[in-house]
Amino acid sequence: MIQSRLPTGLLAVDPRKPEKYSMQKACAILLAGGLVAFPTETVYGLGANALDERAVARIFAAKGRPADNPLIVHFAAAARLNPFFKRLPPMAWLLAERFWPGPLTLVLKNDYGFSAAVTGGLGTVAVRVPAHPVALALLGALGVPVAAPSANVSGRPSPTTAAHVLDDLEGRIDLVLDGGPAWLGVESTVLDLTGERPVLLRPGGVTLQQLEAVVGPVSLDPAVNDPAWAESENEGESESKQPRSPGMKYTHYAPKARVLLFDGADSAGVAAKILAEAAALTGAGQRVGILACRDHESSYREQGYDVIAAGWREDPAPLAASLYEALRCFDRIPVDVILAEGVPARGLGLAVMNRLFKAAGGNVVKV
Ligand code: AMP
Ligand code: MG
Repeated sequence: MIQSRLPTGLLAVDPRKPEKYSMQKACAILLAGGLVAFPTETVYGLGANALDERAVARIFAAKGRPADNPLIVHFAAAARLNPFFKRLPPMAWLLAERFWPGPLTLVLKNDYGFSAAVTGGLGTVAVRVPAHPVALALLGALGVPVAAPSANVSGRPSPTTAAHVLDDLEGRIDLVLDGGPAWLGVESTVLDLTGERPVLLRPGGVTLQQLEAVVGPVSLDPAVNDPAWAESENEGESESKQPRSPGMKYTHYAPKARVLLFDGADSAGVAAKILAEAAALTGAGQRVGILACRDHESSYREQGYDVIAAGWREDPAPLAASLYEALRCFDRIPVDVILAEGVPARGLGLAVMNRLFKAAGGNVVKV
């Protein structure tokens, strides 16, 4: 039984021009140490006053988030970082100028001393200026930075609508600002600027190619492409295998159904393999859902499977936008197994594949 259930409020806000009244109400809750979920351009965030340790601790309790998985601190503008950092690396300003407000998170030295509740006890802190008008209006009106992870129960797919937030967190948070669906559908890119060379810790809305055009070569953290990380929650992997972004070691983005990811350059071969697997599973009495691009949609539909298709192999943006809703939808049907088509791991495709690897918990069929 959940103790001290909260009456979770729901306020519809205009995503283009958020109403002042709603922003004031959300600010009052945050300043009193409460939790407010709000739309960003990536996914919905669950916000608390980043300077209020007790409020931040409530985020972890509401989500069931492991304490060593740090939070991203959100600011209304790059200039608002100044009081919190002695000296930002020049690359941070270059990137901020090019990509903020937007889906890029920078990991910096924790000069100011954001609490261990925010940083997971690391000597660094992750910061971002989001692009969604509701997030910006809220941060601007509040005047203090907001620590906000995705507004889902830990381990579940990230929320891209207010309904997803309520499904996971109703009774555990104070307010949800409903500004319609998040636009991008995958979380921000996380880039570590604390070493000599920038390191991509998590692929997201800003692509590796876009980053390299501004700062030159960027290294990839091994956790980005390695499905083995997805299996390791609570398994105490060795020191040398610790990913630099603690969040990458946890099973993420997972629906209740088992997910099997099919990955290969030959898209017709991938489709054939999915159809063969779907037939075998159906024969064994399992209900199968197929998550795919639109390239081979009709061949799956013709066989009568539950299909959710969006985007194209060469243009995965619509797939990214509907990925988490699709995973939740398959759970509502419910299906037993989700067979997911991979996309080429470049551009936004790198972020999509990273999330699919993790949703699949390492169950990848190479075609
Ligand atoms: P979420 O906001 O739920 O999308 O998760 C935030 C992501 O940023 C997680 O993968 C965290 O591990 C990562 N992150 C936050 N702070 C840091 C940090 N100081 N160093 C490395 N990764 C971080
Ligand atoms: Mg998250």
